[in-house]
Amino acid sequence: MLSPQIHGNVWEMGLNTARVFRLVASQPRRDTLPILPIREARMSRFWSKLVSELSPYVPGEQPQLDELVKLNTNENPYGPAPGVLAAIAAETGDCLRLYPDPHGTKLANALASRFGLQRSQVFLGNGSDEVLGHTFLALLKQELPLLFADVTYSFYPVYAQLYGIKSELVPVSRDYGIVVDDYLARPSGAIIVANPNAPTGRFLPVSEVERLLRGKPDCPVVVDEAYVDFGGESAARLIEQYPNLLVIQTFSKSRSLAGLRVGYALGHPELIEALERIKNCFNSYPLDRLALAGAQASVEDETYFQDCCARVSRSRDELTRRLAALGFEVLPSLTNFVFARHPARDAGELAAQLRQRAIIVRHFRSPRIEQFLRISVGTDAQCERLVGVLAALVPKS
Ligand code: PMP
Repeated sequence: MLSPQIHGNVWEMGLNTARVFRLVASQPRRDTLPILPIREARMSRFWSKLVSELSPYVPGEQPQLDELVKLNTNENPYGPAPGVLAAIAAETGDCLRLYPDPHGTKLANALASRFGLQRSQVFLGNGSDEVLGHTFLALLKQELPLLFADVTYSFYPVYAQLYGIKSELVPVSRDYGIVVDDYLARPSGAIIVANPNAPTGRFLPVSEVERLLRGKPDCPVVVDEAYVDFGGESAARLIEQYPNLLVIQTFSKSRSLAGLRVGYALGHPELIEALERIKNCFNSYPLDRLALAGAQASVEDETYFQDCCARVSRSRDELTRRLAALGFEVLPSLTNFVFARHPARDAGELAAQLRQRAIIVRHFRSPRIEQFLRISVGTDAQCERLVGVLAALVPKS
C-alpha cells in the first residue's frame, strides 16, 4: 500500500471547474504518488480578458514512481520500433546546431506514400493536439456553429473557447454512439468527431462518416483518428472524393511515440494549405530533428507497427472479458483503452482506491460519464495486476 495521503482524482475535478485553472504537482518522490494541491484562479492586472476567462485542458498526470501501473493517458505499453531509437541516435550530433526542415519533407513524403496521397495532402504538427489547435482556428471557426459530441475529447471545448468558436454539443446515444442523423439535422458551419470516440472507445463505421460528408458538403468535417489503428478503419480513403474531409492522426498511441510529439493531418490541398498558413504564423519549426527522424523510421517499419497494434488489441479484448466477468459494464472499444462502470461501485471511489494501490486510471467528473473509468490497456502483467486488485474491490458477481 502507498501512503494514505494520496489524493483521489483531483486532476479530473479540475477539468470541469471553471475557477480552478491550474493544478500543481508537488515534487514527485519515488515512493508515493504526488499530492496535487488545487490552486484557485487568480487574476492579474497583466492578463488579457481572454486569459482570465480560460478553462484550460488538464492533461493526465505523469508521476515518477517506481512500480506504478500507469493506465491513465492511453500511452502504448510497448516501446517504439527499434529503428526509431537508432534514427534518433543518428540525428544526435553536430547537426543539432541547424534548424530542422520546416516542411518535414521526408516524413511528409513517407506518410503520403503510406496513405497513397500527395505531399500536398499532408500536414505535420507537434502532436495531434497542435494539429487540432491549428485546425480549429483555420477551418472550424465559421458563421454557423461547430458541432461536436457531448461526450468526446475534452480538448475540443477548450480550443473552441480559446478561439471564440461558436459550438453546439450533439448528444451521443444512450449507448454512447455518435448519431449521424442528429448532425445532419442541425445547421452547422463545421463538424469534428473523434473516431473511435474518446473516452468511450466506440467506433463509427466509415460508411456513416461518409454519410456525414455527403450530407454536409459545405462544412469542413474533421475526423480525429488518434486511436484508429487498434481495430478501426480510417476515413483517409475518402479524401480524394470529399474535399471537406480532414483526417487527423498521431504517433502517440499506435506508434508508441507520445514522448516525441508528432501528429499529422491528411486532406485536400486547400485544407492543408489553411493549416500551413496558421502554422507559419505561429512556429515554423514545430517538429525538431529528433522527432522528424524518429517518426520517419517508425513509418518505415510497418511490420513492427502492425504487430504492436494487434498485440494491444488482443490484450484489450482479454481485459474487456475479465472486467465483464467481475460485473463491469464495458463499452465496445476499438482503441487502446476501455471505458467501464460497475453497477455496485462509485467510479470516483474505485479510482481513488486503485490509486492507493499504485494503479492510476482516468476518471472524468463530467455529465453522463461520471460513473465510468477509462482504463488504458497495459502490458499483460499490468492488466493482470489491475484485474486482481479490482476483484478485491467489487462485490462478487
Ligand atoms: N485526440 C484524441 C481523441 C486524444 O485522446 C488525444 C490524446 N490525449 C489526442 C488527440 C492528442 O494526442 P497527441 O497530441 O499526443 O497526438
